[in-house]
Amino acid sequence: MIVGIDAGGTLIKVAYTKKGEVHFEKYPIAEIEQVADWVNGLGDSKVCVTGGRSGVLVSLLHQPAQEMVEFEATHLGVQVLLKEMGRLEDAYLVTNVGTGTSIHCIQDNIHERLGGTGVGGGTLIGLSHLLTGVTCYDDIVALARQGSRERIDLKVKHIYEGKEPPISGELTASNFGQNLFSISGDLTKEELLATVIGLVGETVSTVSVQAARQCKSSTIVYIGSSFIDNPLLKEVVTSYTILRGSVPVFPDNGEFSGAMGAMSVL
Ligand code: ADP
Repeated sequence: MIVGIDAGGTLIKVAYTKKGEVHFEKYPIAEIEQVADWVNGLGDSKVCVTGGRSGVLVSLLHQPAQEMVEFEATHLGVQVLLKEMGRLEDAYLVTNVGTGTSIHCIQDNIHERLGGTGVGGGTLIGLSHLLTGVTCYDDIVALARQGSRERIDLKVKHIYEGKEPPISGELTASNFGQNLFSISGDLTKEELLATVIGLVGETVSTVSVQAARQCKSSTIVYIGSSFIDNPLLKEVVTSYTILRGSVPVFPDNGEFSGAMGAMSVL
């Protein structure tokens, strides 16, 4: 069997081929020992590991495994996924919204890290939990879908009351920026969670569209587990990216880019 593993800050992503077919699995990082046990029980296999926790995983394996730099693995994996979509272009930006957010420019097969932001999937879970007490990722994204940001985010039109604003009035002027003191006890979990996702989505897309200027491409490929079952984050990122003149792409299985890339070198 050929196995690529991306052991990240929050989740372990696994891609493997069985009878010529590619399979994907993901596990919480707390289950790293179980993942190692699974690999150790495979017998004859080739394994390549990437991600911030790759060293820990490799130390638990009984057989030698190849290790790979995360950004290189992600870049190779994204190439495979874009090719499958028929969308492989000469230049594009990759924004990986993992625990944190990392932004890369790919130009003529050379990749360069342009930067990132600490606002990412970890922020989504952490802030959501602090504000509402909800712990489970699936619950956070499901509740957020039912919420409105209307009472919490301050829009440009709220500031330019009765006057024509110089930019779209619908843009967020300040995330969580409305006068919340009088209504803080009255806000629902759904509203708060939707607003957290708005904050994360607008931050990663704003930083991405600005980085795209350095990359001479208007295509931004968004990957990372923060988009799993999270249509609201996709919606916020899509509309903001388009509004700023770039083209968002969300490849299927984008969260497995690193694992796919690791597998592709074996
Ligand atoms: P990393 O490689 O840093 O682990 P990922 O791309 O796997 O990053 O993204 C991690 C983020 O994915 C989490 O911060 C969270 O927002 C989101 N996520 C998606 N599914 C889950 C899950 N089942 N449990 C926890 N977080 C999840």
